[in-house]
Amino acid sequence: MTAPSPLPRSFGVDLPAWLREEVAAMPPRVPDPVERMRFVVHLSARSVEEGTGGPFAAMVVDRRTDRVVSVATNVVPSSGLSIAHAETVALSLAQTRLGTWDLGADGADHVLITSAQPCAMCLGALIWSGARAVDIAALGSDVEAITGFDEGPVPADWREQLERRGIAVETGRCEAEALAALRGFRTRLDEGGTVLYNGRR
Ligand SMILES: [Zn+2]
Repeated sequence: MTAPSPLPRSFGVDLPAWLREEVAAMPPRVPDPVERMRFVVHLSARSVEEGTGGPFAAMVVDRRTDRVVSVATNVVPSSGLSIAHAETVALSLAQTRLGTWDLGADGADHVLITSAQPCAMCLGALIWSGARAVDIAALGSDVEAITGFDEGPVPADWREQLERRGIAVETGRCEAEALAALRGFRTRLDEGGTVLYNGRR
Protein backbone atom coordinates (compact mmCIF):
# COMPACT_ATOMS: atom_id res chain seq x y z
CA MET A 1 0.00 0.00 0.00
CA THR A 2 1.36 3.38 -0.97
CA ALA A 3 1.56 6.06 1.72
CA PRO A 4 -1.25 8.60 1.42
CA SER A 5 -0.18 11.98 0.15
CA PRO A 6 -0.33 14.63 2.87
CA LEU A 7 -3.39 16.84 2.84
CA PRO A 8 -2.60 20.27 1.39
CA ARG A 9 -2.19 23.10 3.87
CA SER A 10 -2.19 26.10 1.57
CA PHE A 11 -2.86 27.16 -1.96
CA GLY A 12 -1.97 30.08 -4.13
CA VAL A 13 -2.25 31.60 -7.56
CA ASP A 14 0.45 33.18 -9.66
CA LEU A 15 -0.05 35.87 -12.27
CA PRO A 16 1.18 35.09 -15.78
CA ALA A 17 4.68 36.38 -16.62
CA TRP A 18 3.33 38.67 -19.35
CA LEU A 19 1.00 40.32 -16.81
CA ARG A 20 3.85 40.97 -14.40
CA GLU A 21 5.59 42.79 -17.26
CA GLU A 22 2.46 44.84 -18.04
CA VAL A 23 2.11 45.82 -14.38
CA ALA A 24 5.79 46.75 -14.09
CA ALA A 25 5.38 49.15 -17.02
CA MET A 26 2.22 50.71 -15.56
CA PRO A 27 2.24 54.04 -13.69
CA PRO A 28 1.64 53.56 -9.94
CA ARG A 29 -1.32 55.99 -10.02
CA VAL A 30 -4.04 56.06 -12.67
CA PRO A 31 -6.52 58.89 -11.94
CA ASP A 32 -8.64 58.62 -15.11
CA PRO A 33 -11.44 56.01 -14.82
CA VAL A 34 -11.49 55.55 -18.60
CA GLU A 35 -7.75 54.91 -18.66
CA ARG A 36 -8.11 52.37 -15.84
CA MET A 37 -10.83 50.49 -17.66
CA ARG A 38 -9.06 50.65 -20.99
CA PHE A 39 -6.05 48.98 -19.38
CA VAL A 40 -8.20 46.30 -17.72
CA VAL A 41 -9.99 45.51 -20.99
CA HIS A 42 -6.64 45.38 -22.81
CA LEU A 43 -5.49 42.80 -20.25
CA SER A 44 -8.68 40.77 -20.74
CA ALA A 45 -7.96 40.55 -24.47
CA ARG A 46 -4.29 39.71 -23.91
CA SER A 47 -5.28 36.93 -21.49
CA VAL A 48 -6.93 35.19 -24.45
CA GLU A 49 -4.10 35.94 -26.88
CA GLU A 50 -1.53 34.57 -24.43
CA GLY A 51 -3.67 31.54 -23.64
CA THR A 52 -3.31 31.95 -19.87
CA GLY A 53 -6.98 32.20 -18.95
CA GLY A 54 -10.48 33.38 -19.72
CA PRO A 55 -11.19 36.78 -21.28
CA PHE A 56 -11.36 38.62 -17.98
CA ALA A 57 -9.22 41.10 -16.03
CA ALA A 58 -9.68 43.24 -12.93
CA MET A 59 -7.91 45.90 -10.89
CA VAL A 60 -8.28 47.43 -7.44
CA VAL A 61 -7.63 51.17 -7.08
CA ASP A 62 -7.57 53.35 -3.97
CA ARG A 63 -9.96 56.16 -4.90
CA ARG A 64 -8.46 58.53 -2.32
CA THR A 65 -5.00 58.43 -3.92
CA ASP A 66 -5.64 56.86 -7.37
CA ARG A 67 -2.97 54.30 -6.47
CA VAL A 68 -3.26 50.94 -8.21
CA VAL A 69 -3.33 48.35 -5.42
CA SER A 70 -3.62 45.18 -7.49
CA VAL A 71 -4.11 43.90 -11.03
CA ALA A 72 -5.16 40.40 -12.09
CA THR A 73 -6.42 38.33 -14.96
CA ASN A 74 -8.40 35.13 -14.90
CA VAL A 75 -6.02 32.27 -14.13
CA VAL A 76 -8.42 29.34 -13.76
CA PRO A 77 -6.78 27.11 -16.40
CA SER A 78 -3.17 27.90 -15.41
CA SER A 79 -3.78 27.59 -11.65
CA GLY A 80 -6.19 24.65 -11.78
CA LEU A 81 -8.42 26.56 -9.36
CA SER A 82 -12.05 27.21 -10.25
CA ILE A 83 -12.19 30.21 -7.92
CA ALA A 84 -9.32 32.03 -9.67
CA HIS A 85 -11.48 34.54 -11.51
CA ALA A 86 -9.96 37.97 -12.20
CA GLU A 87 -12.08 39.65 -9.52
CA THR A 88 -11.36 37.18 -6.69
CA VAL A 89 -7.64 37.26 -7.51
CA ALA A 90 -7.52 41.08 -7.69
CA LEU A 91 -9.41 41.43 -4.40
CA SER A 92 -7.22 38.81 -2.71
CA LEU A 93 -4.00 40.44 -3.94
CA ALA A 94 -5.22 43.84 -2.69
CA GLN A 95 -6.09 42.37 0.70
CA THR A 96 -2.72 40.63 0.84
CA ARG A 97 -0.91 43.86 0.01
CA LEU A 98 -2.89 45.88 2.59
CA GLY A 99 -2.90 43.18 5.25
CA THR A 100 -6.65 43.27 5.81
CA TRP A 101 -9.76 41.42 4.75
CA ASP A 102 -11.69 44.72 4.75
CA LEU A 103 -10.89 47.04 1.82
CA GLY A 104 -13.26 49.61 3.32
CA ALA A 105 -11.78 49.70 6.82
CA ASP A 106 -11.09 53.04 8.55
CA GLY A 107 -12.52 55.13 5.71
CA ALA A 108 -10.61 53.28 2.98
CA ASP A 109 -12.23 53.67 -0.42
CA HIS A 110 -11.31 50.99 -2.93
CA VAL A 111 -12.96 50.38 -6.27
CA LEU A 112 -12.94 47.05 -8.14
CA ILE A 113 -12.60 47.68 -11.86
CA THR A 114 -13.56 44.66 -13.91
CA SER A 115 -13.84 43.92 -17.62
CA ALA A 116 -17.10 42.03 -17.04
CA GLN A 117 -19.91 41.92 -14.50
CA PRO A 118 -19.03 39.73 -11.51
CA CYS A 119 -20.46 36.19 -11.69
CA ALA A 120 -22.41 34.70 -8.78
CA MET A 121 -19.17 33.79 -6.96
CA CYS A 122 -17.46 37.12 -7.57
CA LEU A 123 -20.58 39.06 -6.60
CA GLY A 124 -20.33 37.42 -3.18
CA ALA A 125 -16.57 38.01 -3.05
CA LEU A 126 -17.12 41.69 -3.84
CA ILE A 127 -19.66 42.06 -1.02
CA TRP A 128 -17.33 40.33 1.44
CA SER A 129 -14.29 42.38 0.36
CA GLY A 130 -15.35 45.72 1.81
CA ALA A 131 -14.73 47.52 -1.51
CA ARG A 132 -16.82 50.69 -1.83
CA ALA A 133 -17.41 50.66 -5.57
CA VAL A 134 -17.37 48.50 -8.68
CA ASP A 135 -16.81 49.64 -12.24
CA ILE A 136 -17.97 47.13 -14.89
CA ALA A 137 -17.44 47.13 -18.67
CA ALA A 138 -19.46 44.22 -20.12
CA LEU A 139 -22.68 42.90 -18.60
CA GLY A 140 -23.09 39.27 -17.53
CA SER A 141 -25.87 38.66 -20.06
CA ASP A 142 -23.41 39.57 -22.83
CA VAL A 143 -20.71 37.33 -21.32
CA GLU A 144 -23.12 34.37 -21.36
CA ALA A 145 -24.46 35.09 -24.85
CA ILE A 146 -21.05 35.58 -26.46
CA THR A 147 -18.80 33.12 -24.62
CA GLY A 148 -21.04 30.38 -23.19
CA PHE A 149 -19.73 30.85 -19.65
CA ASP A 150 -22.33 30.15 -16.93
CA GLU A 151 -22.40 33.23 -14.69
CA GLY A 152 -24.46 31.39 -12.09
CA PRO A 153 -27.54 32.54 -10.16
CA VAL A 154 -26.90 36.28 -10.08
CA PRO A 155 -30.02 37.98 -8.66
CA ALA A 156 -31.92 40.30 -11.01
CA ASP A 157 -31.57 43.12 -8.46
CA TRP A 158 -27.78 42.66 -8.05
CA ARG A 159 -27.17 46.35 -8.62
CA GLU A 160 -29.58 47.36 -5.85
CA GLN A 161 -28.16 44.67 -3.57
CA LEU A 162 -24.68 46.19 -3.96
CA GLU A 163 -25.82 49.79 -3.57
CA ARG A 164 -27.80 48.87 -0.45
CA ARG A 165 -24.47 47.71 1.02
CA GLY A 166 -22.71 50.96 0.15
CA ILE A 167 -21.04 49.65 -3.03
CA ALA A 168 -21.49 52.16 -5.85
CA VAL A 169 -22.01 50.60 -9.29
CA GLU A 170 -20.85 51.92 -12.68
CA THR A 171 -21.46 49.97 -15.90
CA GLY A 172 -20.73 50.37 -19.57
CA ARG A 173 -17.33 52.06 -19.54
CA CYS A 174 -15.29 50.77 -22.53
CA GLU A 175 -18.11 48.27 -23.17
CA ALA A 176 -17.51 47.99 -26.93
CA GLU A 177 -13.85 47.07 -26.39
CA ALA A 178 -14.80 44.56 -23.68
CA LEU A 179 -17.34 42.90 -25.97
CA ALA A 180 -14.68 42.69 -28.68
CA ALA A 181 -12.40 40.84 -26.25
CA LEU A 182 -15.21 38.40 -25.43
CA ARG A 183 -15.78 37.78 -29.13
CA GLY A 184 -12.06 37.15 -29.54
CA PHE A 185 -12.34 34.45 -26.90
CA ARG A 186 -15.37 32.96 -28.66
CA THR A 187 -13.48 32.76 -31.95
CA ARG A 188 -10.54 31.05 -30.27
CA LEU A 189 -12.92 28.67 -28.47
CA ASP A 190 -14.63 27.73 -31.74
CA GLU A 191 -11.19 27.03 -33.22
CA GLY A 192 -10.39 24.70 -30.31
CA GLY A 193 -7.67 26.98 -28.99
CA THR A 194 -9.03 27.57 -25.49
CA VAL A 195 -11.32 26.04 -22.90
CA LEU A 196 -14.73 26.84 -21.42
CA TYR A 197 -14.10 25.97 -17.76
CA ASN A 198 -17.73 25.75 -16.62
CA GLY A 199 -18.75 23.25 -13.98
CA ARG A 200 -21.77 21.05 -14.58
CA ARG A 201 -24.82 22.92 -15.84
ZN1 LIG B 1 -16.39 35.35 -11.27
